[in-house]
Amino acid sequence: MTDLAPPLPSLSATRSRAGKRLSVVAPCFNEQAVLDQFFERLEATLEACGVDYEIVCVNDGSRDHTLAVLLRHHGRNPRVKIIDLARNFGKETALSAGLEAATGDMVAPIDVDLQDPPELIADFIVAWEAGADVAYGVRVDRRSDSGLKRLTAQGFYRAFNALSDVPLPYNAGDFRLMDRKVVEVIRSLPERNRFMKGLFAWVGFNQVAVPYARPERAAGSSSWRYWRLWNFALDGITSFSTAPIRVWSYIGLAAAAVAFVAAAAIVVRTLLFGRDVPGYPSIVVLLLMSFGVQMLAIGSLGEYVARIYQEVKGRPLYVVMNRYGFD
Ligand code: UDP
Ligand code: MG
Repeated sequence: MTDLAPPLPSLSATRSRAGKRLSVVAPCFNEQAVLDQFFERLEATLEACGVDYEIVCVNDGSRDHTLAVLLRHHGRNPRVKIIDLARNFGKETALSAGLEAATGDMVAPIDVDLQDPPELIADFIVAWEAGADVAYGVRVDRRSDSGLKRLTAQGFYRAFNALSDVPLPYNAGDFRLMDRKVVEVIRSLPERNRFMKGLFAWVGFNQVAVPYARPERAAGSSSWRYWRLWNFALDGITSFSTAPIRVWSYIGLAAAAVAFVAAAAIVVRTLLFGRDVPGYPSIVVLLLMSFGVQMLAIGSLGEYVARIYQEVKGRPLYVVMNRYGFD
């Protein structure tokens, strides 16, 4: 909540938006209810900003009429472009597809449910003109999220930042504006497992936080359930930290040291006092403990091996069924 980036260092180079193009990238999954409102507010903002723009919408295998609504808007405003993915690939992948298709000098990913207020883009552009390569939204108020979601989010940021070399700013989402050069770097990253927040932070550059209050979803419902968020967190941590896999050597070493000392103590005790009643319970406890530790260690290895397998298969990240508005 407090973790805003420090103010910009003295920026010699300033930019001008004149003649520049902004690409807004909007992943959409079952969003028919909110799209009309989204385009109305977004287009009003973009017109007021006085930049050339395109809105790249990625239909992420929606099962409702999202595509039909998008096509209607494309017919009305040719700056609305559509990438229709062959199935639901998940938000991170949809975002990657949009970033690859975006042609602007500035690129701004945004959620279409209006939880990322489109009006903030005006502030992002001002920051970009002042020299920021990335201007990212930071939620100063997560009151629209449930207590449990806030608590788990907090826990995730703690764990991530404790384990990873790349600090993730608290309460920053994907909502941001990036200069073309930053987008090029992100596009050049080859990994399949695209934990976008992490990649955004990893690239560095001159990043500026722009605080905003996060409103409720305007319509429709969130498609992130807790199991999905847990997997998302695992993806994030495993792709930015090897600590979970390395810590096991130390745990193993500690366990072995304890076992060695215990064995020595038992030998000494047996020599001094003779054999007493055999301690089955303690043996069972020790067995179970070492079994548990081993399973955890193997499991954490598995998490990484599975991801190596994903990367090695080298499948394309997504499959595009249709494109509208790209020439
Ligand atoms: N989204 C997507 N594919 C998915 C899930 C979500 O493209 O599989 C999009 C969704 O349409 C929205 C954004 O990602 O534009 C954020 O989704 P949501 O509002 O469900 O997430 P939350 O705000 O609850 O984190
Ligand atoms: Mg949302």
